[in-house]
Amino acid sequence: MEEADRVQLLGQARRYLQDLCLFEEGAFIAPLAQEVLAPAAPLAEEAPAVQDQAAVLEVFRQQICECTRCPLGQTRQRFVFGDGDPGAGILFVGEGPGEEEDRQGLPFVGAAGQLLTKIIEAMKMQRSQVYICNAVKCRPPENRTPTAEELATCAPYLERQIEILRPRIICALGRTAAQALLRVNAPLNTLRGRLHQYRGIPVVVTYHPAALLRHAEWKRQTWEDVKWLRREYDGTEL
Ligand code: SF4
Repeated sequence: MEEADRVQLLGQARRYLQDLCLFEEGAFIAPLAQEVLAPAAPLAEEAPAVQDQAAVLEVFRQQICECTRCPLGQTRQRFVFGDGDPGAGILFVGEGPGEEEDRQGLPFVGAAGQLLTKIIEAMKMQRSQVYICNAVKCRPPENRTPTAEELATCAPYLERQIEILRPRIICALGRTAAQALLRVNAPLNTLRGRLHQYRGIPVVVTYHPAALLRHAEWKRQTWEDVKWLRREYDGTEL
């Protein structure tokens, strides 16, 4: 067997086993309420065997869209998977759906989402050129912060989503998203300004747009973060 065929076969087998584990109670669930979890393993080198990334993503969405594994599944109106270009180089990850997102079933469509769209446009990109999702896929009641248990229960979904998307760079929006991705318990001010790694993918941390609506004085620092994000992504200086 050729080396390329062997690598492709191993990749397919790995994904098949991951999909099997996905619905095995407990086996795919990250440990609950642990302060610092071990970093996720790097993504495999090989490219996805399935050519149609959008189709793979849609199959995955259908597999999990009726999830009730954590209490948020009981109170949501709509499951919010993610939105954007499945082949995008930049992935934005927020905390969780808010009221408008819960109503529409789409991420970042409320006031904070409109601000995120403006931030992306200020980066000289269109929203349709990136992909946007959240650490938890269902709205926490009253927009409270998701609990450690809720984040840990939903974490395998984000992991699989990123594995399918394979972005070149990730922007974590706010402390909760950054902590969920990086599996650290550090405050936002120590996470910003450093280039982190998520399974071999660089991660830039910045403020959540909802925080910017309450604290306009943080917009300048956010602008510095996203200029850096764009520079790291493709070398463009804004
Ligand atoms: S937040 Fe995640 S784990 Fe909880 S019910 Fe929704 S999809 Fe399932």
